[in-house]
Amino acid sequence: MLSIRGLIKTYANGVHALDNVTLDIPRGMFGLLGPNGAGKSSLMRTLATLQEADAGSATLETDDGGAIDMLRDKDAVRRQLGYLPQDFGVYPKVSAEDLLEHFAVLKGLVDRRQRREVVEALLQQVNLWDARKRKLGGFSGGMRQRFGIAQALLGSPRLVIVDEPTAGLDPEERNRFLNLLADIGEDVAVILSTHIVEDVTDLCPTMAIMNKGQVLLTGRPNDAIAALSQQVWKKQVAKAALPEYEANHAVLSTRLVAGQPVIHVFSADQPEEGFERIEPDLEDVYFRQLRLQRQAA
Ligand code: ADP
Repeated sequence: MLSIRGLIKTYANGVHALDNVTLDIPRGMFGLLGPNGAGKSSLMRTLATLQEADAGSATLETDDGGAIDMLRDKDAVRRQLGYLPQDFGVYPKVSAEDLLEHFAVLKGLVDRRQRREVVEALLQQVNLWDARKRKLGGFSGGMRQRFGIAQALLGSPRLVIVDEPTAGLDPEERNRFLNLLADIGEDVAVILSTHIVEDVTDLCPTMAIMNKGQVLLTGRPNDAIAALSQQVWKKQVAKAALPEYEANHAVLSTRLVAGQPVIHVFSADQPEEGFERIEPDLEDVYFRQLRLQRQAA
């Protein structure tokens, strides 16, 4: 329903933030996964009409079978779009209800009664109804993000973009937030940008991995994981031996388990004695893609 073709953006400082990005994004939850600096926000801001691309196109299919040229027809995009930016700020001294009302007015909900109904429904949906009279400054990170979703949903958007929304949330808040997103994703296209692999594993039937402005892989997480089947090995190693392993094997990741490094290695055959074959997961896919890109450079 959203097709992006050959998007290019180079900032004035020479950084290639979007280096020929081509992506198809269906309805439902779409995970855009990449490390800090990958270009995710640049892509999100471009789709949200907040900045211009140098070249390329982005076309949003509408329910009536029409198509919106997202890079040109900005007013039409804004009518279809809900956006939760990475640095969503709130007025700390205003209540959730009052600020959402205010945003609703800005969105063009001029009829008072209708506006009240919409605001109430959204506060219920994001589970902030009981907290509606409280000032936003006293909200937890998770509550603030749920408020951010409520404002993004004003005007019944067909496309919702959320940029790094789970960074800084504790596990319970994160879960709650992801569940809310999953509900929303049943009706509309949701693009979730994140550097947290588990966000995508837990939530997204389709995804893309991005780094250095380039799309490294796109498709279904399970297909990407299956493609690594039988080829990921793990071993607990001594800290001092790490550099040697990294020089001699395709080390995907190093993680401390009870204080001891455990490495994952990509290899068709057992790399050496002591390696145990494991079921790969999305993190292995992710690190393998980053590694392949590094090698190609
Ligand atoms: P992400 O959201 O994946 O962390 P960004 O899109 O924020 O990535 O950044 C991509 C690259 O572009 C980074 O190298 C970043 O430093 C650079 N960048 C982002 N915004 C600007 C800007 N306004 N001017 C110059 N460089 C920028």
